[in-house]
Amino acid sequence: MENQSILIKNTTIIGSDIKKSSLLVESDKITVIDDNLKNIDADVVINGEGKVLIPGLVNTHTHLSMTLLRGYADDYPLDTWLNDYIFPVEGKLEGEHVYAGALLACVEMIKSGTTAFNDMYFFMDQVAKAVEESGMRGVISHGMLDFGDEEKRKAEFKESLRIIEKCHNTADGRIKVALGPHAPYTCSTDLLNWVRKKADELKVPIHIHVSETEFEVQQIQETYGARPFEYLDKIGFLKEDVLAAHAVWLSESEIDIIKDKEVKLSHNPVSNMKLASGTSPVAKMMEKGVNLSLGTDGAASNNNLDMLEEMKIAALQQKVANLDPTVLKAGEVFKMATRGGATALGIEQETGTIDVGKKADIVLVDMRAPHLTPFRHPVSHLVYSAKGADVDTVICNGQILMQEKELLVLDEKEVLSQAEESAKDLLAR
Ligand SMILES: [Zn+2]
Repeated sequence: MENQSILIKNTTIIGSDIKKSSLLVESDKITVIDDNLKNIDADVVINGEGKVLIPGLVNTHTHLSMTLLRGYADDYPLDTWLNDYIFPVEGKLEGEHVYAGALLACVEMIKSGTTAFNDMYFFMDQVAKAVEESGMRGVISHGMLDFGDEEKRKAEFKESLRIIEKCHNTADGRIKVALGPHAPYTCSTDLLNWVRKKADELKVPIHIHVSETEFEVQQIQETYGARPFEYLDKIGFLKEDVLAAHAVWLSESEIDIIKDKEVKLSHNPVSNMKLASGTSPVAKMMEKGVNLSLGTDGAASNNNLDMLEEMKIAALQQKVANLDPTVLKAGEVFKMATRGGATALGIEQETGTIDVGKKADIVLVDMRAPHLTPFRHPVSHLVYSAKGADVDTVICNGQILMQEKELLVLDEKEVLSQAEESAKDLLAR
């Protein structure tokens, strides 16, 4: 496995340009892209005819184990959803549930073309175990909340450091650990200050929810006399290593802060629409050159982890919100889901584009389907017509995770039945 070579021949490669060519993977890297490759020997040869080859999609905001809560509480406002449904069940979670839910999420993500993600939850060593077994790439963080309680705060520090110590840079470098303060309204300033200091010291990134709802903005304004991004800037929290999820309710000056401090954003349109949180000013931020990426959020507020669907909805939502069909073009939203995601996670040297020297994180999408015919501009088809189920083959870090729709790394049936059992057990508690 270590030094395996994979030849993908005669395929349409979506790299810096779009061309028909062949690509060679040796060990964990893309080593050659050349049309003359097709006659060489390789351990595995994949016929790419009729397929397009793209970088593995990057989902920059997830709570993987919430797959167990898929469809559990739909059609409620965010506060009811959280306080009456999600938080009470999460209080009963054990490591075994988190593991079963994370494995289910990995199967779902691989089958819909995602190779890298950014996850915040609890029992994160269980998530790391699932990521290790799945062959995927992930940045994981323990979600920290203290609501101003010092005891709780200390416990959160301890758990975050334990996960960093145990999991950071494991699984051949596929797993990285970030610090995960949940949000400015659930974390005290003391907690956020500690996170900033530790992130600098340990050189790990930060993953946080900011300005998801209008109510949150009001709350922060009442408590700190400033809007969320202004407050975070004032305490010196914002730097280029911060990835903020949602970022729905933003003032002009907050957009300038995000741009100046090079904060990375994860746009989560489906979750924001389902919980009626609002519409992020993504088109405006794109014009200003903010680093934008795309995330599904957890499966309890989406209700799937399909990044192809997320791309389409991101584009449609911005068009209708701006009453302008020219914003968030197919190529722009595709970039958010690939290169933008890799940059947001600080792994752009490894993944996010198809280039010689990069890690082999590759997805083949089969375009021979009625809803993808006739074959025209492949990026347009990927964003507006394709579904996760059109994904044919997935490679991550040079390992084939799925080949011609057959999962090679995990026993799909077993993972699904374990998740079914685990969800039942959780809700019966
Ligand atoms: Zn979230």
